[in-house]
Amino acid sequence: MNTVDFRRHLHSHPELSFEEHSTAAFISEQLDALGIEHRPIAKTGILARIEGRRGNLKRCVVLRADIDALPLQEMTGVEWASQCEGVMHGCGHDCHAAILYGVLKRLQSDRDFEGTVLGLFQPGEERGFAGARKVLDEDPFKDYDVAAVIGEHVDASLEVGEFGFCPGKFMASADALCLTVKGAGGTPSQGAKNPIVAAADLVMRLNAFNSDVCTLSVNKVVAEGLPDHLPEECRCEAMMRAFDEKLRLRIKDMIAHAVEEVEYKYDVGVSVDIHDGYPCVENDTQLTYEAMLMADSCGFVVRDLERIEGEEDFGCYSQLYPSLYYRLGVGREAGRKHTASFLPDERALAIGEEFMYQLSLSILNK
Ligand SMILES: [Zn+2]
Ligand SMILES: [Zn+2]
Repeated sequence: MNTVDFRRHLHSHPELSFEEHSTAAFISEQLDALGIEHRPIAKTGILARIEGRRGNLKRCVVLRADIDALPLQEMTGVEWASQCEGVMHGCGHDCHAAILYGVLKRLQSDRDFEGTVLGLFQPGEERGFAGARKVLDEDPFKDYDVAAVIGEHVDASLEVGEFGFCPGKFMASADALCLTVKGAGGTPSQGAKNPIVAAADLVMRLNAFNSDVCTLSVNKVVAEGLPDHLPEECRCEAMMRAFDEKLRLRIKDMIAHAVEEVEYKYDVGVSVDIHDGYPCVENDTQLTYEAMLMADSCGFVVRDLERIEGEEDFGCYSQLYPSLYYRLGVGREAGRKHTASFLPDERALAIGEEFMYQLSLSILNK
């Protein structure tokens, strides 16, 4: 099967995070047809393995593609549009999986490389499902010396033939905070036990943590009193994004400290609930520069990217192994991802495949 047909099949049969049963069955069938060894991983994922003919087989490169779709009703009108009501590949993960398939197919054809390639079709990237964590919980790379984990995302801000790179810190961590300030309801008072005044002070303290490398945004404040009656509590919800894992931990300590001060100052109780999201995506600098040179020598256009505040579970790998996460241009006409009309230019598939294939060979044969 060619890469475009592979992508179109996935596109017309999208499945939500951790429901990728027929996606995994299809991938497995296609890998079987090529004689590529593989096994299930993280419930609905697939881990493929191709050993080279030479070198240390313990040294490996992991190529990762996410495979899940989104709860959207597709409106692109293409022939191969989603056949599943209310589910759509609206983030381009069908393209990522197809490119990985194409790369594995080429590597398998002559296996003329050193070491081992692991092809990871990862489930559950979207909506906080953290498929990468479930993959790593199984410790699938424990017998290997991982030279690189490589992942990509389609990008409609880049034209077809363009690749985007950002050495070092690339994408932010994302943690959801919920803070509930409990005081005394009833007769309004401006000081002690007033949950609204205490919460307002806390919001201002949290706001002061914003910097170049951390965003702490309080996006919801709920206090349901009456004009002449204080509520007993005030609930604040916030999103914290940081570009540095050490800073991420330090800010959490600083939040705890601010909470203690507010509790003492206003004689209130504050409960803090932090829902840990994805960690930062940090690109290995040397690997990124090598990839930029490789893209250039393949005749593609190399673009420097700014840091991005969006989150991505690829960060789970980049915290453990030398990693590279880059962007593949699919043209501005593609529209916005996560919308019902997102339509990447399919010419990007062959380009993405060529680049990932050449990059894998150059890392393996080093
Ligand atoms: Zn997405
Ligand atoms: Zn995505």
